[in-house]
Formats: sequence, structure tokens, C-alpha cells
Amino acid sequence: MQPKDLYCPECHSPLARSAGELSCGTCACSYPIVGGIPRFFSGPLKETEDMTFQADQMFNATLTAKIYNLGKKIVSSDYQPKNHLDEFIFAIKTGAVVAELGSGNRRLTPHIINIDLFPFPNVDIIADITKTPLGSETVDYVVIDAVLEHVPEPHKVVEEIFRIVRPGGAVYCLAPFVYPYHGYPHNYFNFSKDALEFLFRSFSHCSVEIARGPTSALTNLLSEYVAVALSGKSAMRYTFWKGIALAPIFLLKYLDTFWDSKGPGVRIANALCAKVIK
Ligand SMILES: [Zn+2]
Repeated sequence: MQPKDLYCPECHSPLARSAGELSCGTCACSYPIVGGIPRFFSGPLKETEDMTFQADQMFNATLTAKIYNLGKKIVSSDYQPKNHLDEFIFAIKTGAVVAELGSGNRRLTPHIINIDLFPFPNVDIIADITKTPLGSETVDYVVIDAVLEHVPEPHKVVEEIFRIVRPGGAVYCLAPFVYPYHGYPHNYFNFSKDALEFLFRSFSHCSVEIARGPTSALTNLLSEYVAVALSGKSAMRYTFWKGIALAPIFLLKYLDTFWDSKGPGVRIANALCAKVIK
């Protein structure tokens, strides 16, 4: 789904639409429409091994990805005692404008505007999320889920969210804290409670809670230690050892049920989520 009106990401002037492109009369920029999808970002983007592996995982493309995905369904350190994202999505009012920044290939609601740097089939707009083509104060809800850590200047993304969200609009932001490096294509930062509160300080309300808890962090780090130590550069060996190391310990993750999502566990949580109101 695309919004009716798109704006120049550089100067925020309305864009004129012709068959093959969108053009800005103010700054003389033009943006191609390829296969019906406007492209505001054209790279270059250097592929990394992690990124290739993530794309393979997303599309279950290789044998390693298939084993990884199957293994992850059975043996995983990821556990969210409470599904904060579902709760956020459930509260969305009918007719609201919702955007997911860095959506990847999923579509959370039928009318959501999916923005990503990569042209996955479910992406509606290809753009750098620090410079979206959405109008100022035109969006009611923004989801940014495990994306901020991959952006070199996360404060610019949050400033952009502040620009596009209407006063009273809501943001759901999940970010890893005690979590291993994962470069899709790069992993610049992990975020503490203080970091998320600081990033969203211009908004009227920001509450940070545990999304995945301390035991998720422990089991993930312990299995990652084994996998990284024994896998060299092979994704297949990484997948194998991660699974072997997780198998005897992954059920411990259910201990996270007992951690208060707003309590001191935020100091060692695997991932935190910020629930923000402009
Ligand atoms: Zn312009």
C-alpha cells in the first residue's frame, strides 16, 4: 500500500507523478518508479556475508537457511513473555495511517506502508529511513522493529519519525541490548534503556520495557560463544554449533516469564522495546 501523496525526501515538497518517475519541482530531483514501487534510494550498498545469510533465511533459499529456520522453530533462545508488537498492532484504529520502517519482507497489517532499503516483494517504498517520502505529521503509527541497530545514525531515524508522526501518534521501537553482533548489513549499536529514552526525548511519552529478557540474553550469548568459537567463517558450521549449544539450555528462556518487564531486568535484557507517544 502506498500513501496517496509522496513528498521529496530532500526538501519535503509535493512530488509530481508521471508514468515512470516522481519529480520534485523545488529541488529538481527525480525518483524512478520500478515495477510500481518508488525508489528513493539507489545505493550503493555493499553486501556483507551476514546480509546474504539473512536474505537466504528470509526466503528459505539455501540448505543452510532451511536447516537454520527449521532449527529456530524448534530450538531458539528468542522468547517474549508478552507480545508487545501484537498489542501495539491490536490497538491501531481503523483507517489510521501506519508505517513500518525497515519492514523487511513482512506485512503486519493489510494497509501498512512498508519502507525498506531493499526491494523485497512486500516493500511499498524503497527509501533510506532517515529520509522518507512521507509528509510531515501524516502518520498515526510507526513500527521500527530490530532496525535501529543497523543504522549508522539512529538519531536521524528518530528525528524522521518525529517529523512524520502526528501529535498524539504512537511509535513501537524494539532494539537489542545484550545481544550478539548481527550485521544485516552492519550492526552499529545496541541500545540500553537510557539510550532509547534519550533518542525519543522529543516525544511527550516514552516507556521502555523488556521485550526479550535476561535468560534469553544468557542462552543466546552462551550458544553464540560456542558457535563463533567453532564455526570459523562457515554459516553452515555456525548454524550447526549454535543449535548444538542451544539444545541443552534453550528451555531456560521460559524463566523470563518471572522477570517484571519494567523491573531491574532491563539492565541485562536481550532486547528492549520503547512505547512512545508524540
Ligand atoms: Zn525536492
